[in-house]
Amino acid sequence: MVTISENYKKMLDAIPSNLKIVAIGKTKSPDEILSLYDCGQRIFGETRVQELLPKYEKLPKDIKWHMVGHLQRNKVKYIAPFIDMIQSVDSLKLLNVINKEGLKNERVINCLFQIHIAEEETKFGMTMDEVLRIMESDEFRQMKNISVKGVMAMATFTDNEKQIRKEFKALKTIFEKVKEKYFRSDDVFSEISMGMSSDYEIAIEEGSTMVRIGTALFGERQY
Ligand SMILES: *Cc1c(COP(=O)(O)O)cnc(C)c1O
Repeated sequence: MVTISENYKKMLDAIPSNLKIVAIGKTKSPDEILSLYDCGQRIFGETRVQELLPKYEKLPKDIKWHMVGHLQRNKVKYIAPFIDMIQSVDSLKLLNVINKEGLKNERVINCLFQIHIAEEETKFGMTMDEVLRIMESDEFRQMKNISVKGVMAMATFTDNEKQIRKEFKALKTIFEKVKEKYFRSDDVFSEISMGMSSDYEIAIEEGSTMVRIGTALFGERQY
């Protein structure tokens, strides 16, 4: 049986050393997450608040938790005290709530804009225009308790490598446009979160700075 630590070593050997790995532990137990933690991994991601909270309680406090799934506004308050990054910001309304909860907790919460690049209707995320509208809004300019670090997206679930590559290129282009327009003299906006177990190699070739890996580290999920 291949173990989590063997998967991890293989992954570290296969990727550039400056690339960040967000280990996605959804459906996996705290013990499984801990075995990856014991290999040295510190960034972990979850898609559901109700799954994240008990894991946060049980697991070591130096873990950096990333929220990568669709986030309802009324759930932000539960994660605001500790979340390291919310990768799934898909509206100004959500950003407003994150900012407010950040203020209450006296922290600045790192965010990524989730962009819709896939063909599927079901995948969440904003268009480039929606991002620009946020950036241009007075509301956004007044937010002091969020820090937008970059963009995130999921490619279409397909075997068609060309399609996936095209979508990752589109995300990179959006990143560069937003950076050029609003963060030119500012290194804060620097992350492109793209690539999962099935497509991280393509994502890396297309400029990913952060991959989100579940299955390739923890094994298949049982629902
Ligand atoms: C589940 C999930 C991942 C990881 O998927 P794998 O294919 O298991 O690597 C990455 N990002 C998001 C948003 C996810 O929901």
